[in-house]
Amino acid sequence: MFSLEQLVRPNIWNLAPYSSARDEYSGKEAHVFLDANENPYNAPYNRYPDPLQRDLKKELKKVKGMPEENIFLGNGSDEAIDLAYRVFCNPGVDNVVAIAPSYGMYKVCADINDVEYRPVLLDEKYQFSADKLLAACDAHTKIIWLCSPNNPTGNSLDRDEMLKVVNEFEGIVIIDEAYIDFAQQLSMRQELPTHPNLIILQTMSKAWGSAAIRLGMAFASRDIIAIYNKVKYPYNVNQLTQQQALTALKDPFEVDKWVRILLEERARLIQAFTELPIVEEVFPTDANFFLARMTAAQAIYDYLVSEGIIVRNRTRVQLCQNCLRITIGSHSENNELIGALRKY
Ligand SMILES: *Cc1c(COP(=O)(O)O)cnc(C)c1O
Repeated sequence: MFSLEQLVRPNIWNLAPYSSARDEYSGKEAHVFLDANENPYNAPYNRYPDPLQRDLKKELKKVKGMPEENIFLGNGSDEAIDLAYRVFCNPGVDNVVAIAPSYGMYKVCADINDVEYRPVLLDEKYQFSADKLLAACDAHTKIIWLCSPNNPTGNSLDRDEMLKVVNEFEGIVIIDEAYIDFAQQLSMRQELPTHPNLIILQTMSKAWGSAAIRLGMAFASRDIIAIYNKVKYPYNVNQLTQQQALTALKDPFEVDKWVRILLEERARLIQAFTELPIVEEVFPTDANFFLARMTAAQAIYDYLVSEGIIVRNRTRVQLCQNCLRITIGSHSENNELIGALRKY
C-alpha cells in the first residue's frame, strides 16, 4: 500500500507552514486592506500576489484538463525539481536514481541538497530498461527521475517501460515533460489518478515561448501538491509572471502554430544535416532540438562560435561523444546555421 507519510521527510510532514496575510484573509468582499504592511501607492505593484495563483490555475485547468488542487506552480521547473529533494530526501541518508544522460539540474539539486545521485546509463539507442533502474534502487531511494522527451538526446522514452517503473517502484517517480508539446508521444498526465507516486513536470519555457517569465508546473496527487505548497516560498510566482502567463494561456492556438512551424523546420534542418559530410548521425527526436554526431564536434562548435552561431556542445557527456545539440530556430536562423556548416 502506498504511504506518502513514509516517503516525506518527518520534519516536512510535521511542518507548520508560514501563514501570510493573503492566506488568512482570502475573501473578495473587503475593500480596505491594512493587513500586509503594503504601501497604498504604486498600484498595481503595491500588493502581494496570490500565493496559490488561483486565477492562473483556473486557466491552466482549461488548457491541461487538470483540477487546480493537482497543480503546483513554481519559479520555473527548477523550483519543482529542487522542492522534490527538500520534501522527500533526508540529506546524507537518502538517494535518487536517474537515467543518464539527462537534464543537468537533477544532479545539481541533488548535490546542493547533499543527496546521493545514481545515474543509470541509457542504451546506445538512448532508451532505458525499467529493470536496470529498479536494480539501482535500495531502501533509501526516494525518487526516480525520467525525462521524456529526454534532454539532451531528444527522443521520447518507451511508455510501457515508464509505466513499469511507476507501477513497481515504491517511491516517487518524476517524469519531466518539458518538451511534451513537440512530441508524438502523449503526456503521462492521464496516469496521475491511478498512480499516487507520480509527479509530472511541464514548463512555459519551451513550446509556450515564455522562458523569461519563469513558470514551471508540477502535476501530482492533491496530497503531494499540498506538501509542495507548504514548503515553497509564500510568494514564489510574482504578479508580473502570473499576469503574463494568463495572457499566454488565453491563446493556446498561437502555441499550436509555433509548434507546427518548428516541427516543419526541424524536418528541413535534419534533412540538410544528413547531407553534410561533417555529420555522421542525426538521432531521432521528439523535441524542438536534435542531437547530431559530428566528425569533430569541438572544432565545428568553435567554428560556429566564430561565425556568431551558438549551439550546445555535448561531446563531454557520456554516450554523446562528438555530439552537438541543435535547437530549432526561426527559418532564417536555421538557414544561417546550414550556410555556415556548408562552408566549413
Ligand atoms: C528546459 C528544460 C526545463 C525547463 O526548466 P524551466 O526552469 O521551467 O525553464 C525543464 N526540464 C528540462 C529537461 C529542460 O530541458
